[in-house]
Amino acid sequence: MNQIVTLGRGVMTGSLVWPALVVCLVAWHFRIGAWAEDAIDRLTPSKVAAVHAAVEEFAATRSTRQRPGPFHEYRCNLHVHSAFSHDSRGTIEEIVAAAKRAGTDAILFTEHPADDYDFVADGHAGFVDGVLLVPGAETKGVLVFPRDPVAEHGALEPQDLVRRVRARDGMSFLSHLEERMDWQLDSLTGCEIYNTHADAKEETRLFSLMKNPLWLLQVKVLLDRYPQEALAALFDYPAEYLKRFDELCAHAPHTGISANDAHQNVGLRITLLEGGKVRVASALDEELTILDRALVAAFIPIPDDAEPGDLVFSLQLDPYQQSLRHVATHLLAMELSRDGIQEALVAGRAFVAFDWIADARGFEFVADDGDGRHEMGSRLPLDPALTLRGWAPLAGQWKVFNRGQLVHEASGDEFSYRPCGVGNHRVELWLDVAGRSLPWVLSNPMYVVDR
Ligand SMILES: [Zn+2]
Repeated sequence: MNQIVTLGRGVMTGSLVWPALVVCLVAWHFRIGAWAEDAIDRLTPSKVAAVHAAVEEFAATRSTRQRPGPFHEYRCNLHVHSAFSHDSRGTIEEIVAAAKRAGTDAILFTEHPADDYDFVADGHAGFVDGVLLVPGAETKGVLVFPRDPVAEHGALEPQDLVRRVRARDGMSFLSHLEERMDWQLDSLTGCEIYNTHADAKEETRLFSLMKNPLWLLQVKVLLDRYPQEALAALFDYPAEYLKRFDELCAHAPHTGISANDAHQNVGLRITLLEGGKVRVASALDEELTILDRALVAAFIPIPDDAEPGDLVFSLQLDPYQQSLRHVATHLLAMELSRDGIQEALVAGRAFVAFDWIADARGFEFVADDGDGRHEMGSRLPLDPALTLRGWAPLAGQWKVFNRGQLVHEASGDEFSYRPCGVGNHRVELWLDVAGRSLPWVLSNPMYVVDR
């Protein structure tokens, strides 16, 4: 908050801070793109409005069809934090309400462990208002979903923890790959192939501008009007994650999942105090600074009738609803239950969808070998009759990768491809979103093996 403080003093002393800031903002708006586009470039009113219009068009034109085969599709959010975690204040009521608005069927919680609760025994579990909750933790670089409490988990090495969880019929996923690209643990269920927090971490200009009140005022208008598209301004293709995922799958089957890393903890709150002061706090209500009301009123309109205790400004970049809608792991399962979800995740019957662009329900990536239809995660002998096929609710650009190499491209709402070599084959489906080509769906692999 140094910049607010510095800026405030500058305004009071009539210095040149104001004009300098305006010049900076104008420069940011119109600068020539000498480096890669980032969230700040995308957070201009015209761009966000254009993305919103594209999203509305997708929603109006997407098609639906009955999914063949025995499985139901469930939209799941993995890697979600509630108030059990030190860096979130989310109550289960608000998280479940947000999940329902986001179209989520199941939440797999990943709390930061602490001494005052057990993340399995005390964690959110079972159905609440129709949403299935599964307790788990984010610890030691992995997301773990054990069936029962893991004694002394804090003392275990990551590999021992993962083996212990697997031995007791639980699941583990490698998390935050950007911090551990060289890890290769056995007994994992899979790994993250996208993590919203990892995506956001690269937005260095965004986080420095979050300290700038003028910019916050400008972006607040966008966040209030287009909260989903404003959050999605930080979205980038997870190239490094997918490269590592392809390497891991070439070694052993891994199920790729998306990590919402939802905390609802990025933002700012300004509350009126007695005596002409205001309190500036983080989204977690941790006090950052106390300022004179007159300083803040220069940037943020404070109503004349506002009273001490009133929240006069609040900005939340990552509300649960938008965070949970942004991306999801869609599972093909026999039923919505703890067992049903685990069975699908272990089998690899899952795809990651950036549902903020469009609802990806109905997406299919299957293999046909002449005697039947096989879902993602299957092991299939290489055979001249073997065909990989896909269908999606919207037409886009299909990209088929084998062991990380692009081997086929097609456009439309479906594709088919005959593999000509063994290896882990997966699909990406890209859409043109207001002039920007973006990945919409990332499938899990089909494992084509020697006959
Ligand atoms: Zn996390």
